[in-house]
Amino acid sequence: MCEERDKLLELLLEAAKAHDAALRAIRRCEGKELERLTAASESARSNYNECYAVLVAHERYHGCNEEAPESTAHEA
Ligand SMILES: [Zn+2]
Repeated sequence: MCEERDKLLELLLEAAKAHDAALRAIRRCEGKELERLTAASESARSNYNECYAVLVAHERYHGCNEEAPESTAHEA
């Protein structure tokens, strides 16, 4: 269990929610509001990508990715 990774995952989840919310709102909008929300969803998406990159970089550096259990490190 890595606290830092937990925090990064939480940020990633928040970013995903923000992107999702913007996309949902877009479906109900038109005109200026649509333009504004499209920009908001783009920035939410790039924020998500940034969070994801930070998470992956942390996992590589710290070796705390739960999907790559330590047992695989014992081979050879
Ligand atoms: Zn970690």
